[in-house]
Amino acid sequence: MARIVMKFGGTSVADLDRIRNVARHVKRETDSGHEVAVVVSAMAGRTNELVAWTREASPLHDAREYDAVVAAGEQVSAGLLAIVLQAMGVNARSWLGWQIPVHTDNAHGAARILEIDGSELVRRFGEGQVAVVAGFQGLGPDNRVATLGRGGSDTSAVALAAAVKADRCDIYTDVDGVYTTDPRIEPSARRLGKVAFEEMLELASLGAKVLQVRSVELAMVHKVRTFVRSSFSEPDAPGMDDFDNPPGTLICDEDEIVEQEVVTGIAYARDEAQISLRRLADRPGVSAAIFGPLSDAHINVDMIVQNISEDGSSTDMTFTVPSGDMEKSLSVLEEAREAIGFDVLQSESGLAKVSVIGIGMRSHAGVAATAFKALADKGINIKAITTSEIKISILIDGPYAELAVRTLHSVYGLDKT
Ligand code: ASP
Ligand code: MG
Repeated sequence: MARIVMKFGGTSVADLDRIRNVARHVKRETDSGHEVAVVVSAMAGRTNELVAWTREASPLHDAREYDAVVAAGEQVSAGLLAIVLQAMGVNARSWLGWQIPVHTDNAHGAARILEIDGSELVRRFGEGQVAVVAGFQGLGPDNRVATLGRGGSDTSAVALAAAVKADRCDIYTDVDGVYTTDPRIEPSARRLGKVAFEEMLELASLGAKVLQVRSVELAMVHKVRTFVRSSFSEPDAPGMDDFDNPPGTLICDEDEIVEQEVVTGIAYARDEAQISLRRLADRPGVSAAIFGPLSDAHINVDMIVQNISEDGSSTDMTFTVPSGDMEKSLSVLEEAREAIGFDVLQSESGLAKVSVIGIGMRSHAGVAATAFKALADKGINIKAITTSEIKISILIDGPYAELAVRTLHSVYGLDKT
């Protein structure tokens, strides 16, 4: 017997037929004798609709009331799933965030989970009851409903798994696992059996949209073995109930991965923009003068490249932001021009960032050189490079993104089993 948290996203609970299908996945696990908590998202499209209503009601609205509205989507799916499970003879009840309670901070609309009291759920597991939990929501210190930011029910599931000390957190979604790259770009992409937490964190933040980034951070910190699998597979297909080796991708501690590949996957992000400050004074405080105001404006800066100055007096600084934030970034920098001290501001949008990820590169030389040569052979120009221990990110012209992904996928042999 094990304790499992199962999470189903919006497409998996899109209508009553799909909810019935979810219930069969749940029943399979309870029939095997496992203790189960299920976390659900709102039915597909519902959160968008609720968000739109709040904006239509008033463009500038109280974030606490926004939360009161958008949390409603998850309440509906949790209640419906509990009803369907009960009709199938499963002892189940629904839980809203405040009932558990899931304590969050006060950042309405993008709240963080502070603590979950799992004791009542655990007591009821002992009585054979399944908990159906509304994801994406909790209770703020102001005693009001708070939501976790879009895609937040992944985070609810992982946090709940940590709180009840679950053996595994199964994230059921519309893909059957994590792939070596996006299969829509490279049809020979393979599903990975295991991915280390660190790698998944990079994959998720660099564009692979399977899991919310924060849920991966949480899984890493609390060492929650997280399993990405398909909700569209037949609930009773052979192997689905195999506890040790079910179909999907396990995200786990790297110690669990016996055969580490040098490169695990290729991620990409389009719509990147590049901003360069030329002839910038080379003195203490310039970086702070640039990135402080950008951070105050909530602009998410990514690759940052600065040159060592030639003559000790001026240097160049280049960094990337999402294309949508480029204009805002430029005006923030123009406003801070005096304080920063630079000569020219240059920018370009429509770029792409392609990243090579793998924990194995910590102990291998030449991984980056291989990428650079492969891209050169295809005539792809590299605009900027940043690296970490387990990642190489390369900035290129947007139209070359697909070619670069396919080239890197094959040069590291990811298309071969
Ligand atoms: N329903 C919420 C959203 O659409 C949370 C989630 O699906 O994870 O963002
Ligand atoms: Mg989602």
